Amino acid sequence: MHFSPRIYSAGLMMVLAFFLIGSGRPPHGTSTAPTVHLPKTVSVKDFARKYGFTDVKVSKEQVHLKGRVHELIFSKHSRRAELNGTVVWLNDAMVVEERQWVLSQTDVQLTLKPLLVPAELLKGCGYQVVVLDAGHGGEDGGAVSPTGLLEKQVVLDITNRVRALLMAEGYKVYVTRHNDRFLELAERPRRAEKWNADVFVSIHANSGGASAVGTETFALSLPGYPSTNQSAGSAVPKDSNPGNLFNQANVSLAYAIHHALVHQNQLTDRGLRRARFAVLKNAPCPAALVEVGFLSHAQEGAKLAKAETRAALSLSIATGIDNYLRTVKKAVISADIAE
Ligand SMILES: [Zn+2]
Repeated sequence: MHFSPRIYSAGLMMVLAFFLIGSGRPPHGTSTAPTVHLPKTVSVKDFARKYGFTDVKVSKEQVHLKGRVHELIFSKHSRRAELNGTVVWLNDAMVVEERQWVLSQTDVQLTLKPLLVPAELLKGCGYQVVVLDAGHGGEDGGAVSPTGLLEKQVVLDITNRVRALLMAEGYKVYVTRHNDRFLELAERPRRAEKWNADVFVSIHANSGGASAVGTETFALSLPGYPSTNQSAGSAVPKDSNPGNLFNQANVSLAYAIHHALVHQNQLTDRGLRRARFAVLKNAPCPAALVEVGFLSHAQEGAKLAKAETRAALSLSIATGIDNYLRTVKKAVISADIAE
């Protein structure tokens, strides 16, 4: 199936068009983006009612929503939110409009809805083929720990463990590299395309200042929106990338992995973030990039040097991918029955 990514000129309406197109395999013959007229913001009260949050409490710093299944906490005038104890960075801050707390429609449709009701949105996705991408390799060592351990070694070990775990669950799993070799960034999503990937997960370890610590998972940034780490005032690309065809599935996948990682390993939670990494931009399917921890941090680097830590992280990444794929499978089967 071929669907050429289109270049759009303007921000919000174009971003919203993606949720109408859907997050799964793009439909045949989609040649024009549908015109949508939705309000730019949604009051937190209306949002809570629509998604089954029966309890709404406003404290000094936050707005807390609680329902039968989910708990969601928004920080006032901030992009920081927490879903079921896991940090999620929004595209827009929750702000006050006409004396009400409001969220942007973009975040409701393309960040929160895919996390709260993923089954509704994943009907068009696949659930069998996993492509794992161990970052760096060969002459590109990646991040370095204070003791000289290289990112390329750590992430290859984790990737091979995740592969074994998912194969044992019956998935078809490919890896972009299974040994210490250099691979161009562009080649990685290209391989995923060749193998008809249903998900693409790139695995990395981070590098930063001596005190930087914790785990973060990335989904591709939305066109017209800055990446989470982008400094204020720098240019925001408006163009859509091939990976933006899967906006809703991207965030569901990234959250599933991040939630499992953070909660099963007591990690510092740096949140589900957005970035325009090359492998995410060109992914031919729903994709996420995991930074398991800071190799550059003395304690975290020492932890990543231990096989037992890498085994635990691998189990969580595999669990997250498996949870996402099970959700897709359920959604596809129930859609088939309904037809
Ligand atoms: Zn890396």
